[in-house]
Amino acid sequence: MRLGVIANRLVLVDKDQKDHKNNKGTAVDLEQASKGRFPADPERVFDSWDALVEWAASYTWDDEQERLPLDGLQNPVPAPRQVYGIGANYRDHLEEAGRAQGHQGDIPAPGTPLIFTKFRTSLTGPYDAVPLPTRNVDWEVELVVVIGRHAERVAEKDAWSHVAGLTVGQDISERVIQLEGIAPQFSMGKSFPGFGPMGPVLVTPDEFEDPDDLEIGCSLGGQVMQTGRTGDLLFSVPQLIAYISGVTPLLPGDVIFTGTPAGVGLFREPPVFLQPGDTLVTWVTGIGELSNPVTAGPGYPAADDQDGDK
Ligand code: ZN
Repeated sequence: MRLGVIANRLVLVDKDQKDHKNNKGTAVDLEQASKGRFPADPERVFDSWDALVEWAASYTWDDEQERLPLDGLQNPVPAPRQVYGIGANYRDHLEEAGRAQGHQGDIPAPGTPLIFTKFRTSLTGPYDAVPLPTRNVDWEVELVVVIGRHAERVAEKDAWSHVAGLTVGQDISERVIQLEGIAPQFSMGKSFPGFGPMGPVLVTPDEFEDPDDLEIGCSLGGQVMQTGRTGDLLFSVPQLIAYISGVTPLLPGDVIFTGTPAGVGLFREPPVFLQPGDTLVTWVTGIGELSNPVTAGPGYPAADDQDGDK
């Protein structure tokens, strides 16, 4: 099942359409197509998740139902109760960070996942603007996991059955706020408004040949900046769910940003950061892509302000 949100209403997205480039494909309004059985409100979708998945599998795409174009897709999970982010979860990203900090030789992998939150006011949709507060804002393509079933002390082998679906995310990050101070402040540096684009659709795990090995990437102004495979995650989706749910119960609709591979702007020589006028395109094969225009946000320094780098 491929689920989206258009005009703040849940929509079922045409199953044949794997590639959302050029906004091909169509959708139908979920409440109308199900003759009122399922709600239009995206915040209520997890109340009857199993029944919805079953109904969608047998839905026949006839011509009677009005088709909606996909260019109006919004964040498919606009109001999760909890949002988790994972740092340092790809070896190549860990190594680029280590090199930039002058480490020689092997960088030790973390023994446990590095967890932070993106406060939920940072979440936005697949085509929304990213307003820059400073000149130190960076990109991070990530696979995003959405929980479908209450998960408390879940074993790795049972983890996937607690997942509603997968979507594409950008963990936009203000690097100065993230890293300055007596201890890093990941949650603050990654939570300005517009710093969490998600979408374009939520895809159930059964739609993938191997949900543990998906191709991800992002480009800036047409230049590919990051590519990776989720098969290279240091902590896999089941390991993350087992670890997190051993501390905090995961609730239906909760979101996990699973980490980013190498190629962020901070560790380039010289560093590259987002600028007004850029377009950031972010994809996961089998889900679709985000296309977010970058703008000057409140407080962004004027062009002639050389000290405006903080
Ligand atoms: Zn990240």
